[in-house]
Amino acid sequence: MGTLFSQSLISQPLIMRSYFNETQGRHLFFWASVPFEKAGNAGMKESGEKFYTARGYAVLSAGEDELTSSMEDYLEMIYRLSGREGYTRVKDVAESLHVQPPSATKMVQKLREKGQVQAEKYGIIKLTPEGRRIGAYLLNRHNTLRDFLELIGVKEHLHEDVEGIEHNVSKPTLQCLLDFVSFLRSKPHLVEEFRRYRAQRAEAEIRG
Ligand code: ZN
Repeated sequence: MGTLFSQSLISQPLIMRSYFNETQGRHLFFWASVPFEKAGNAGMKESGEKFYTARGYAVLSAGEDELTSSMEDYLEMIYRLSGREGYTRVKDVAESLHVQPPSATKMVQKLREKGQVQAEKYGIIKLTPEGRRIGAYLLNRHNTLRDFLELIGVKEHLHEDVEGIEHNVSKPTLQCLLDFVSFLRSKPHLVEEFRRYRAQRAEAEIRG
Protein backbone atom coordinates (compact mmCIF):
# COMPACT_ATOMS: atom_id res chain seq x y z
CA MET A 1 0.00 0.00 0.00
CA GLY A 2 1.14 3.55 -0.57
CA THR A 3 3.91 2.25 -2.71
CA LEU A 4 5.08 5.56 -4.12
CA PHE A 5 5.22 7.09 -0.67
CA SER A 6 7.15 4.31 0.96
CA GLN A 7 9.48 3.69 -1.94
CA SER A 8 10.65 7.26 -1.68
CA LEU A 9 11.57 6.66 1.96
CA ILE A 10 14.13 3.98 1.26
CA SER A 11 16.89 5.95 -0.33
CA GLN A 12 16.40 9.45 1.06
CA PRO A 13 18.16 10.63 4.19
CA LEU A 14 14.98 11.42 6.10
CA ILE A 15 13.84 11.12 9.65
CA MET A 16 10.30 11.07 10.82
CA ARG A 17 9.28 13.96 13.00
CA SER A 18 5.95 14.68 14.52
CA TYR A 19 4.31 17.59 16.26
CA PHE A 20 0.97 17.97 17.92
CA ASN A 21 -1.31 20.21 15.93
CA GLU A 22 -3.73 21.73 18.46
CA THR A 23 -6.22 22.90 15.86
CA GLN A 24 -6.60 19.49 14.32
CA GLY A 25 -6.13 17.79 17.66
CA ARG A 26 -3.74 15.29 16.18
CA HIS A 27 -0.13 14.50 15.71
CA LEU A 28 1.13 15.35 12.29
CA PHE A 29 4.00 13.30 11.00
CA PHE A 30 6.38 14.57 8.43
CA TRP A 31 9.63 13.50 6.96
CA ALA A 32 12.48 15.87 7.60
CA SER A 33 15.60 15.73 5.57
CA VAL A 34 18.38 15.76 8.12
CA PRO A 35 21.99 14.84 7.44
CA PHE A 36 22.83 11.63 9.26
CA GLU A 37 25.59 13.06 11.44
CA LYS A 38 23.84 16.30 12.25
CA ALA A 39 20.76 14.41 13.36
CA GLY A 40 22.92 12.26 15.61
CA ASN A 41 24.73 15.21 17.17
CA ALA A 42 21.61 17.25 17.76
CA GLY A 43 20.02 14.31 19.49
CA MET A 44 22.98 13.75 21.78
CA LYS A 45 23.23 17.41 22.73
CA GLU A 46 19.58 17.86 23.50
CA SER A 47 18.59 14.78 25.36
CA GLY A 48 21.11 12.03 25.07
CA GLU A 49 18.82 10.37 22.56
CA LYS A 50 20.36 9.34 19.32
CA PHE A 51 18.69 10.21 16.09
CA TYR A 52 19.24 8.45 12.84
CA THR A 53 17.83 8.72 9.39
CA ALA A 54 14.96 6.40 8.54
CA ARG A 55 17.51 4.32 6.71
CA GLY A 56 19.71 4.37 9.80
CA TYR A 57 16.94 2.99 11.96
CA ALA A 58 16.22 0.35 9.36
CA VAL A 59 19.86 -0.72 9.46
CA LEU A 60 19.86 -0.79 13.26
CA SER A 61 16.86 -3.07 13.41
CA ALA A 62 17.84 -5.17 10.42
CA GLY A 63 18.99 -8.70 10.80
CA GLU A 64 15.75 -10.55 10.98
CA ASP A 65 13.70 -9.64 7.97
CA GLU A 66 15.71 -7.09 6.05
CA LEU A 67 12.88 -6.17 3.75
CA THR A 68 12.56 -2.72 2.27
CA SER A 69 9.38 -0.74 2.92
CA SER A 70 8.28 -1.51 -0.59
CA MET A 71 8.83 -5.25 -0.16
CA GLU A 72 6.85 -5.07 3.06
CA ASP A 73 3.95 -3.41 1.25
CA TYR A 74 3.94 -6.16 -1.35
CA LEU A 75 4.23 -8.95 1.18
CA GLU A 76 1.43 -7.47 3.25
CA MET A 77 -0.78 -7.24 0.18
CA ILE A 78 0.09 -10.73 -1.05
CA TYR A 79 -0.80 -12.08 2.38
CA ARG A 80 -4.04 -10.08 2.41
CA LEU A 81 -5.04 -11.32 -1.05
CA SER A 82 -3.97 -14.93 -0.57
CA GLY A 83 -6.71 -15.60 1.95
CA ARG A 84 -8.17 -19.09 2.11
CA GLU A 85 -6.97 -20.20 -1.31
CA GLY A 86 -3.40 -19.65 -0.22
CA TYR A 87 -2.35 -17.96 -3.43
CA THR A 88 -2.88 -14.81 -5.44
CA ARG A 89 -1.91 -13.46 -8.84
CA VAL A 90 0.61 -10.82 -9.92
CA LYS A 91 -2.19 -9.02 -11.75
CA ASP A 92 -4.31 -8.75 -8.57
CA VAL A 93 -1.37 -7.56 -6.50
CA ALA A 94 -0.55 -4.90 -9.10
CA GLU A 95 -4.17 -3.76 -9.19
CA SER A 96 -4.48 -3.57 -5.42
CA LEU A 97 -1.26 -1.60 -5.03
CA HIS A 98 -2.00 0.62 -8.04
CA VAL A 99 1.22 -0.27 -9.78
CA GLN A 100 1.94 -1.55 -13.27
CA PRO A 101 2.13 -5.35 -13.61
CA PRO A 102 5.83 -5.26 -14.66
CA SER A 103 6.69 -3.48 -11.40
CA ALA A 104 4.79 -6.11 -9.45
CA THR A 105 6.55 -8.88 -11.37
CA LYS A 106 9.92 -7.36 -10.50
CA MET A 107 9.08 -7.10 -6.82
CA VAL A 108 7.68 -10.62 -6.68
CA GLN A 109 10.98 -11.76 -8.15
CA LYS A 110 12.84 -9.98 -5.35
CA LEU A 111 10.58 -11.55 -2.73
CA ARG A 112 11.26 -14.91 -4.33
CA GLU A 113 15.00 -14.34 -3.99
CA LYS A 114 14.40 -13.53 -0.31
CA GLY A 115 12.53 -16.80 0.09
CA GLN A 116 9.19 -15.16 0.89
CA VAL A 117 7.20 -16.33 -2.11
CA GLN A 118 7.15 -19.04 -4.71
CA ALA A 119 6.26 -17.74 -8.13
CA GLU A 120 4.42 -20.31 -10.19
CA LYS A 121 3.05 -20.43 -13.69
CA TYR A 122 0.34 -18.12 -15.00
CA GLY A 123 1.30 -15.30 -12.68
CA ILE A 124 0.33 -17.24 -9.57
CA ILE A 125 2.15 -16.32 -6.36
CA LYS A 126 2.26 -18.50 -3.28
CA LEU A 127 3.75 -17.52 0.05
CA THR A 128 6.39 -19.76 1.60
CA PRO A 129 5.86 -20.62 5.30
CA GLU A 130 8.34 -17.83 6.13
CA GLY A 131 6.48 -15.43 3.83
CA ARG A 132 3.20 -16.35 5.49
CA ARG A 133 4.68 -15.75 8.95
CA ILE A 134 6.02 -12.31 8.02
CA GLY A 135 2.91 -11.46 5.99
CA ALA A 136 0.75 -12.20 9.03
CA TYR A 137 2.99 -9.97 11.15
CA LEU A 138 2.81 -7.14 8.59
CA LEU A 139 -0.97 -7.30 8.33
CA ASN A 140 -1.28 -7.43 12.10
CA ARG A 141 1.05 -4.42 12.36
CA HIS A 142 -1.06 -2.51 9.85
CA ASN A 143 -4.30 -3.36 11.65
CA THR A 144 -2.88 -2.54 15.08
CA LEU A 145 -1.74 0.90 13.95
CA ARG A 146 -5.06 1.53 12.22
CA ASP A 147 -7.02 0.46 15.32
CA PHE A 148 -4.80 2.56 17.56
CA LEU A 149 -5.18 5.70 15.43
CA GLU A 150 -8.92 5.11 15.12
CA LEU A 151 -9.28 4.71 18.88
CA ILE A 152 -7.50 7.99 19.59
CA GLY A 153 -9.82 9.73 17.17
CA VAL A 154 -7.88 9.95 13.90
CA LYS A 155 -10.25 10.25 10.96
CA GLU A 156 -8.51 12.30 8.31
CA HIS A 157 -5.46 10.79 6.64
CA LEU A 158 -5.91 7.61 8.63
CA HIS A 159 -4.75 5.38 5.83
CA GLU A 160 -1.80 7.54 4.79
CA ASP A 161 -0.61 7.77 8.37
CA VAL A 162 -0.82 4.01 8.89
CA GLU A 163 1.20 3.55 5.71
CA GLY A 164 3.70 6.17 6.82
CA ILE A 165 4.20 4.82 10.32
CA GLU A 166 4.06 1.07 9.77
CA HIS A 167 7.50 0.69 8.22
CA ASN A 168 9.08 2.68 10.99
CA VAL A 169 7.71 1.22 14.16
CA SER A 170 9.80 -1.24 16.15
CA LYS A 171 8.43 -4.54 17.38
CA PRO A 172 8.52 -3.60 21.09
CA THR A 173 6.65 -0.34 20.37
CA LEU A 174 4.13 -2.21 18.26
CA GLN A 175 3.59 -4.65 21.11
CA CYS A 176 2.89 -1.72 23.45
CA LEU A 177 0.36 -0.34 20.98
CA LEU A 178 -1.27 -3.73 20.58
CA ASP A 179 -1.61 -4.05 24.36
CA PHE A 180 -2.95 -0.52 24.59
CA VAL A 181 -5.54 -1.15 21.88
CA SER A 182 -6.73 -4.33 23.55
CA PHE A 183 -6.79 -2.58 26.95
CA LEU A 184 -8.96 0.24 25.56
CA ARG A 185 -11.22 -2.20 23.77
CA SER A 186 -11.93 -3.89 27.06
CA LYS A 187 -12.80 -0.52 28.61
CA PRO A 188 -15.11 1.32 26.20
CA HIS A 189 -16.05 3.86 28.87
CA LEU A 190 -12.44 5.09 28.85
CA VAL A 191 -12.60 5.59 25.11
CA GLU A 192 -15.85 7.51 25.55
CA GLU A 193 -14.30 9.65 28.24
CA PHE A 194 -11.31 10.39 26.05
CA ARG A 195 -13.61 11.41 23.18
CA ARG A 196 -15.49 13.80 25.45
CA TYR A 197 -12.18 15.18 26.70
CA ARG A 198 -11.04 15.84 23.15
CA ALA A 199 -14.35 17.46 22.24
CA GLN A 200 -14.06 19.76 25.26
CA ARG A 201 -10.52 20.72 24.30
CA ALA A 202 -11.62 21.43 20.75
CA GLU A 203 -14.45 23.58 22.05
CA ALA A 204 -12.14 25.49 24.39
CA GLU A 205 -9.83 26.05 21.44
CA ILE A 206 -12.68 27.60 19.41
CA ARG A 207 -13.71 29.84 22.30
CA GLY A 208 -10.06 30.86 22.66
ZN1 ZN B 1 -0.01 -1.43 5.28
